[in-house]
Amino acid sequence: MYKIAVAGTGYVGLVAGACFAEVGHRVTCVDIDENKVNLMKSGVSPIYEAGLEELMQKNYAAGRLEYTTDYISAYKDADAIFIGVGTPEQPDGSANLSYIATVARQIAETIEKDCLVVVKSTVPVGTNDKVEQFINDFLVNDVRVEVASNPEFLAQGSAVHDTLYAERIIIGTESKWAEEQLKGIFEPFHLPIVSVNRRSAEMIKYASNDFLALKISYMNDIANLCELVGADIQAVAKGMSFDERIGSKFLNAGIGYGGSCFPKDTKALDYMARQHGYELRTVKAAIDVNNDQKTVLFNKASKRLITINGLKVAILGLTFKPGTDDLREAASLENVPLLLDQGAEIYAYDPVGSSNFSKVYPEGMNRKGSITYVEKIEDALTDANVCFIFTEWGDIKAVPPETFEKLMRTPLVYDGRNIYNVVDMRDAGVEYHSIGRGSATREDIKESKKLGFQTARS
Ligand code: NAD
Repeated sequence: MYKIAVAGTGYVGLVAGACFAEVGHRVTCVDIDENKVNLMKSGVSPIYEAGLEELMQKNYAAGRLEYTTDYISAYKDADAIFIGVGTPEQPDGSANLSYIATVARQIAETIEKDCLVVVKSTVPVGTNDKVEQFINDFLVNDVRVEVASNPEFLAQGSAVHDTLYAERIIIGTESKWAEEQLKGIFEPFHLPIVSVNRRSAEMIKYASNDFLALKISYMNDIANLCELVGADIQAVAKGMSFDERIGSKFLNAGIGYGGSCFPKDTKALDYMARQHGYELRTVKAAIDVNNDQKTVLFNKASKRLITINGLKVAILGLTFKPGTDDLREAASLENVPLLLDQGAEIYAYDPVGSSNFSKVYPEGMNRKGSITYVEKIEDALTDANVCFIFTEWGDIKAVPPETFEKLMRTPLVYDGRNIYNVVDMRDAGVEYHSIGRGSATREDIKESKKLGFQTARS
């Protein structure tokens, strides 16, 4: 059993803390946000993650998990301090390391015994060296401190599962002592551990995330070409997926990647390369494709409609992906202002994301349009002139094609997640546009009605 402190209780820190407690360590989670800490103490998770609240309550009750804003008491006698604070993107694409630096200084000024500091946040290569130097520069007591890298690979929406059953744990250390400490901490998880040096560990995180971002942008690029040449991206992806060298995951075309990681980590690696006089052309291409992909549906709709002004626009899904309340870099955040600027009357539905979204776009008149948050999908769709699907939440995927036809004033759907079968939508009488596949146009619908598909189904 180790005495562990975790700095930062976001998606990474809180999940790590709860999982460390779950395997038997004594954990204190530290955050500067008093509201968050009070919420956690009352057994409520400040973030939406499946299974997290149960884990928090169970381990809090067992006395293995605590929450505090008092970093001094948490850090002073910890065996290991994990840093999981944010490293957000700066305007030039570089990672903002100020939160890491603050924690490093707090650690230096408080620790009273030998301690391993573990950087879990995603940081540019070489940051761990600097953190170690920084801590030693400011160290108050005569204790030994070493810094190790332990990048996080969880995916939001399945963070607890991804932590308890991680495919691998990467540890980056510069001494046998640090390596043994980290191996000891992760031993109860019984997971494969890959032990490398610190700089390689830092790079593994970026290289992995950027590879996934590249895979998504590649499929989106191919999808856009599919539309032009009459191929179907889903059929293409299926055909590709049998090749083990390619793999079957991350082949879904869509409206671009979002979230707190891929966008910033691609930009940070691109920035890092430029700092070293190197142009990382593949990653740059992934970034470029993604930037354009987010508005591909808006552009299609703008071409199709004479105006969006005064139209009732249904938006299904606001978060960057299902299973999370996180909006960072979500496609909705790109498209909503464009629609509002065109005078759209938006009715937005999301099972968990509306409250966060309304902090950015409060309900009511906004720019040249308006936005209303609804609690039922039907309320968004009723009398709508056009519908955009941005997130493939389960309840959104469950809407039958006929519902669009029945509820909407004009059943015109732009689906950024390729949820529906084009033929099913056509046969239900829905004009349907998606990513990298054929569309169901008004003419197709008339033709299918003439041929009797509609009557055969109804
Ligand atoms: P987050 O923004 O959700 O949480 C960061 C937390 O740190 C906040 O609660 C904030 O109040 C707290 N904080 C700031 N300064 C602090 C201080 N001095 N002491 C204690 N707490 C402090 O961030 P996140 O999404 O959990 O990401 C954290 C890091 O992990 C980032 O580097 C990110 O790139 C990386 N990462 C994130 C994910 C993900 O899916 N979110 C996955 C892998 C890696």
